[in-house]
Amino acid sequence: MNQPVLGIIGGGQLGSMLSEAAKKVDIKTVVLSDDPDAPAKNFTNKFIYGKYHDTKIITEFVNSVDLVTYEFENIPFDILNEINKSKSVLPKPEINSLIQNRLTEKDFLNKNNIITTKYALIKNKDEIKDNENLLPGLLKTTTLGYDGKGQYKLNSLIDINEDIDFTKEYILEKFINLKKEISIVICRFGNQKYEIYEPIENVHEDQILKHSKIPAEVSETIKVKSKEWAKQIVEELDYIGTLCVEFFIDKNENLYVNEIAPRVHNSGHLTINSHNVSQFENHIRAVCGLEKIDTKKIYNAQMINLIGDDITIYRNKTFKENEFFYDYLKKQIKAKRKMGHLTIIEK
Ligand code: ADP
Ligand code: MG
Repeated sequence: MNQPVLGIIGGGQLGSMLSEAAKKVDIKTVVLSDDPDAPAKNFTNKFIYGKYHDTKIITEFVNSVDLVTYEFENIPFDILNEINKSKSVLPKPEINSLIQNRLTEKDFLNKNNIITTKYALIKNKDEIKDNENLLPGLLKTTTLGYDGKGQYKLNSLIDINEDIDFTKEYILEKFINLKKEISIVICRFGNQKYEIYEPIENVHEDQILKHSKIPAEVSETIKVKSKEWAKQIVEELDYIGTLCVEFFIDKNENLYVNEIAPRVHNSGHLTINSHNVSQFENHIRAVCGLEKIDTKKIYNAQMINLIGDDITIYRNKTFKENEFFYDYLKKQIKAKRKMGHLTIIEK
């Protein structure tokens, strides 16, 4: 059988790493990006630049692929849905639209008896006052937030200020006294068929992921429960491909789901070097209908995100045999921008 050509929407580092993984299993990729300098340009077989709402561009993209996946979740539902009429989009567009909104995402989790932080929908200033019980809390835009963007910490009502743009819709989330954060990366191939990675322990700085490691230093109960919830989520969504669940653990050892990413995830980058099959390769295998391979850990590992200027030093460094440096080849260095990462395996 001929291998399908895989279209990937989004040309950032995740698109690059998906393209690299696709090469490994002989799948050709076409990346569509609205950034002419997108990093994935360097890794894909074909690169198409254009705006996502440009129907001519979308048609060109759709005509050059057999199926479509995406590397980021903030793609308008209409576009994914339109593409899905001619070429199958995986994960399904409805899943993406459910998860890209923090309110519907949290409602979905709670409906399935999965614990999240307490939250409320906020459409104006007064609604914050009505939900004072959620303070201290974080006000987060319901859509389009990432790496802490669109978030305001409110310790009390005094912190409501002019910077907050109430033409946008928010959720107010109770602030959790964090002990730790972990994530579970899972790749589902079909009914009760999945590969699941062990919990990854994550440290954030300024709400951006800085460091990840396996094994996570958490109790057996937390390990079991986090995996169970991740499985429950992918089954409930009838999900195909790699998904990541981010968790909070509070000082009293309570576990909460923070959010779901319907895609490969930054905390899973270490799987490229720590496992026989990475989160990227598993995603490609699942969406392209390739064989599912027993995924096993080979090494313990840690990953350090190189943010902003960090990259400059690393570009001139020599690395040890157990260190793997990834430069995302972004044209411009910007503060708070993820520029690359380093994975260190324990040999
Ligand atoms: P993003 O979509 O930007 O990743 P998150 O909701 O995951 O947004 O928030 C980013 C980080 O901010 C989290 O990983 C965590 O460190 C911190 N954070 C977010 N919400 C809370 C909360 N309710 N309580 C404590 N810390 C939080
Ligand atoms: Mg997050």
